[in-house]
Amino acid sequence: THTVLIVGAGHAGGTLAGLLRQQKFDGRIIMCGKEPHLPYHRPPLSKKYTDDEFVQWLKPESFYADNAIDTHLDDPVVRIDRSTRTVTTRSGHNIGYTTLVLATGAEPRTLTLPGSDLEGVLSLRTLSDAHQLRTAVQTGVALAIIGGGYVGLEVAASARANGCAVTVIEREDRVLARVASTELSAALTEFHRNRGTHILTEAKVQEIHGTDGRVTSVLLADGTEVPCGIVLVGIGAIPNDALGRDAGLNCVTGIVVDGAARTSDPHILAIGDVTYRLHDTLGTMVRLESIPSAVEQAKQAAAVITGTTPPSHEVPWFWSDQFDLKMKMAGMINPDTRAVLRGDPSNTTFSLFHVDTDGIPVAVETVNAAAEFMAGKKFIGNRTRVDTDALADPTVPLREAVL
Ligand code: FAD
Repeated sequence: THTVLIVGAGHAGGTLAGLLRQQKFDGRIIMCGKEPHLPYHRPPLSKKYTDDEFVQWLKPESFYADNAIDTHLDDPVVRIDRSTRTVTTRSGHNIGYTTLVLATGAEPRTLTLPGSDLEGVLSLRTLSDAHQLRTAVQTGVALAIIGGGYVGLEVAASARANGCAVTVIEREDRVLARVASTELSAALTEFHRNRGTHILTEAKVQEIHGTDGRVTSVLLADGTEVPCGIVLVGIGAIPNDALGRDAGLNCVTGIVVDGAARTSDPHILAIGDVTYRLHDTLGTMVRLESIPSAVEQAKQAAAVITGTTPPSHEVPWFWSDQFDLKMKMAGMINPDTRAVLRGDPSNTTFSLFHVDTDGIPVAVETVNAAAEFMAGKKFIGNRTRVDTDALADPTVPLREAVL
């Protein structure tokens, strides 16, 4: 029988296991995980960690037994032997495979500054991380967030809504510098500040101070001291590609895969945050960290394993919820795009279409504007030329902006 061994019981791995059975794959499926849990949704960990329903399982527990998906949790794979097609786990289990799927995700980047190992310095990737953050925030602790990325801002919003004092410390000259337009960064900064969050930009962390082993403040290079009971470090993630790298697979920043999740070894596929790939619609090599991308690659892997045609590429997209703002973003901004604003940032319903020099939107960022998101994503995928004046006028229906 064909044995599919999935390493990583996260969003990509769990999705693939389900898809394989849905597509009537009748071989063996084994899913190995480092965490003690079955796959769960990570997006609520930063958005809903203060709500009771923040633990959302990808599938009910019975799903795995019902679908003959063997799970081997709390025991990371530590080595791949490509010649014998076997992996070894930390506890010493050897498991053979016909097809190996690496779905090991990414891990929070850590700080190496003095004080980084104090109690109360947290990162956020796992359910166990979210439990720690939740317990702290429920006590109304002052929170210092290092890194103004999406995770940092989402955590900030929920903590503020729970009455915590929150300071976001960002090294760049704006929040979301790597992932959002200057226009969206500015609108969000104002929004958070109006709700009482302190946002410090161009702020370099020098040291984390503590008493009796517990964090008490963050010291910045300019001498500013940010008092806090908890520090959340949200400075990005690095791919868990060591297994693939040690096994000699082609890796750059992540395991290199093609448009059908294939690595440089014909018996090994890789999916999700751990992969680095040429993206059709973007035309560049990217390592995407998003649920839609993990699901897309799980579909590609399922197609390869079952011998069907992989789906065509989707325009990459992402979402974020902060306070009552529902944001959705698609495509990728580049230095040559011009932002066309539709709607009014001050009433929190607006979109930004980023249009290239040919008049074609290549990215869209929307806030509480679901229809604009859908239209924008289609424009990007179909390379639709638009009339930017019409686009900028919310009274003109979007379809009339198409040239
Ligand atoms: P993961 O879900 O991280 O799963 C990988 C699993 O592999 C982990 O459980 C890991 O422990 C395990 N593993 C690692 N090494 C080994 C090993 N050697 N052996 C066995 N197991 C191993 N995306 C969105 O699209 N929208 C959002 O709003 C959003 N919000 C997010 C909020 C937070 C706080 C975080 C952390 C992420 C968010 N993301 C969001 C990103 C999204 O969660 C990831 O893109 C997605 O989880 C990727 O799936 P994955 O399976 O590749 O990785």
